[in-house]
Amino acid sequence: MVGARFVKVEQRRPDLRIPFPERFVERLTGRTVTALGRRAKYLLADLSSGEVLIMHLGMTGRFLVDDGGKASGGGPPLIGAYRHTAGGVRAHDHVVFHLSNGAVVTYNDARRFGFMDLVPRTELDRSRHFTGLGIEPLSDALSGETVAQLLLGRRAPLKAALLDQRLIAGLGNIYVCEALYRAGLHPSAPAGSLATPTGRPTAKAHRLAEAIREVLNEAVAAGGSTLRDYARTDGSLGYFQHRFRVYDREGKPCMRAGCKGEIRRLVQGGRSTFFCPVCQRP
Ligand SMILES: [Zn+2]
Repeated sequence: MVGARFVKVEQRRPDLRIPFPERFVERLTGRTVTALGRRAKYLLADLSSGEVLIMHLGMTGRFLVDDGGKASGGGPPLIGAYRHTAGGVRAHDHVVFHLSNGAVVTYNDARRFGFMDLVPRTELDRSRHFTGLGIEPLSDALSGETVAQLLLGRRAPLKAALLDQRLIAGLGNIYVCEALYRAGLHPSAPAGSLATPTGRPTAKAHRLAEAIREVLNEAVAAGGSTLRDYARTDGSLGYFQHRFRVYDREGKPCMRAGCKGEIRRLVQGGRSTFFCPVCQRP
């Protein structure tokens, strides 16, 4: 998409989770995408108009890229193969971008919890989606020191604090479970226990920062985790779910060498947490 212009935009509904912004099609048509990025769980496309197209996949949203067969060396377009094998339903194609480089980028979302919005780049950090967002877990901002500062004095369970997007943005349930397991930390421990009374990092805080970074980097390299609907833009599936050490392994033996523990599940804030009661003591 970078460097390509929106030749034609099809908006097939007035809303997804929230209404599309006013004159959505008009504000995109003729504009060039100057950069793509991400902040927390939001995908960002900078436009030549100075606005940013914000896109959120919600639960079941996905982008399908049909490049006319270029990526497959003139063979059938990847999108076609995907639709047949994975059953993407065309009735759920809600937005279609026709780009000047010939690519067709389609937003498909069965449950419509995703959304799109347009915000001036200069107002992005102050927009309703971005105010109060926490630090990026893959940036230099994440360290034992920042983990300790963010959690200092918090009595909430560690798991809940890590899912709080106002502290660290973009960590989801799976990756928090995996990071806590790798760091050997109990999900119900008070979040503040990772900081000394003066806000200095404990060894646990350093281990956690390292585990978060490690899990996310491995997951990105594996193309993400395919549970239910998640797929990459060419329709292929991520495979990090085959690397889960703890998530969704209730009743199975702990994978840590020498550990005789059995993975348990507990429900925290309505979400399942998986942990090893031996490796992750309170
Ligand atoms: Zn264990």
